[in-house]
Amino acid sequence: MDFTFSPEEEAFRAEVRAFIRDHLPKRSGQDQMDVEEGMSDLPALYQWNQDLHAKRWVGFNWPREVGGGGGTISEQMILKEEMARVKAPMLGLSYMGLAWVGPALIKYGTQEQRDRHIGPILRGEIQWCTGYSEPGAGSDLAALQCKAVRDGDDYVVNGQKIWTSLAMWAQWMILLVRTDPHASKHLGITCLLVPMSTPGITVKPIKEMNGGAMFAEVFFEEVRVPVANRLGAEGQGWDVTKDALANERSSIADVWALKHRLEAIRDLATRRTRRGRPAIEDPAIRQRIARMETQVEAMRLNGLRFVTKQLRGEPLGAETSINKLIRARIEIESGRLARDIEGSFGILAKKSPHAVDKGRWQKVMLSWPPFVIGGGTPNIQKNVIAERILGLPHDV
Ligand SMILES: Cc1cc2nc3c(=O)[nH]c(=O)nc-3n(C[C@H](O)[C@H](O)[C@H](O)COP(=O)(O)OP(=O)(O)OC[C@H]3O[C@@H](n4cnc5c(N)ncnc54)[C@H](O)[C@@H]3O)c2cc1C
Repeated sequence: MDFTFSPEEEAFRAEVRAFIRDHLPKRSGQDQMDVEEGMSDLPALYQWNQDLHAKRWVGFNWPREVGGGGGTISEQMILKEEMARVKAPMLGLSYMGLAWVGPALIKYGTQEQRDRHIGPILRGEIQWCTGYSEPGAGSDLAALQCKAVRDGDDYVVNGQKIWTSLAMWAQWMILLVRTDPHASKHLGITCLLVPMSTPGITVKPIKEMNGGAMFAEVFFEEVRVPVANRLGAEGQGWDVTKDALANERSSIADVWALKHRLEAIRDLATRRTRRGRPAIEDPAIRQRIARMETQVEAMRLNGLRFVTKQLRGEPLGAETSINKLIRARIEIESGRLARDIEGSFGILAKKSPHAVDKGRWQKVMLSWPPFVIGGGTPNIQKNVIAERILGLPHDV
């Protein structure tokens, strides 16, 4: 592996730094997790999206024919690294649109579907949500039961989805339905693109333990979806989804966000005291910080492996599950560690005037489920690693 950058790549890095100097919105550096609080910053974020789009840096690695940047993998790494270094907001507002709906449209969509959706995704005008999970179909997604029956030029959808992130704000959903109850469970599934304003869709937000409500239950009652909105062939929904999930696992593993979190924990340990000494001098705390740093570094190096694979033209494989699994551990441990550094103040949350750092760490502690469970639980990642990387026998 040679990660020396060419003069052209270094020039690109300089261009990114200059862009950041001129365009970075003021909110940068705030807690990126807080979607609800971030709503007040929408105009600035929208402008950020437009500035990035003008440079063709939204959808940076998508083909130029569809409006993407056609960037190389090395340039993409430089772009992400420089943005993360300054805690810039995401590279585009349409989070799921960019992470997996767009790539699925590029691979499986009709020309008409691409013309309709890709521009709004790149310009950050449309939010997407993902209607995969159901009360009886999470880890075992292929067990889904929400059904669609063909009626002329429409599918008629009835059923329920759950844990649908951002459903309250999204204008469109990428939805998985069962179109053939008699086919084997992976083959009877179809993917539909559904406007959330369609009559018969009810969205009920679910309150989270951190006080927010970022996801919802979604109910479908006689919802008519034109056949023209089907993504891929009837019965091909599982293939569309497998690609989407691989994209999700690689995008979730964000090393830089964890590096910033570690920095903040070290800073906290310098400011707080334990038994009259700065907490950073306590051997138990030092050991826990060191363990986390080692794990983040392992994630970074493993991430370089993914880049190498992509540079060789190989697809991202099961290895992304390793980073997803390590990240899950760090998510849980970082909140606990910060709480322990705070000592008895660790029980005070946001609204208390005595809460350390305005209760930031308590929020981290209560916000792990999206990173740990969303996109596949740790047990599922372990199964993937065992079966597909280590070659162990299949889960029964
Ligand atoms: C914050 C958040 C956001 C989410 N956003 C979305 C979204 O936008 N759209 C969407 O469709 N879904 C979303 N999900 C759903 C998520 O993908 C599922 O919750 C996840 O796949 C787990 O499924 P489940 O909740 O049904 O748990 P289950 O599958 O019922 O699992 C329960 C427990 O059993 C274990 N288990 C299950 N099967 C096995 C096995 N074979 N081997 C070993 N252990 C096993 C699991 O690890 C887990 O500990 C989100 C979830 C969360 C928490």
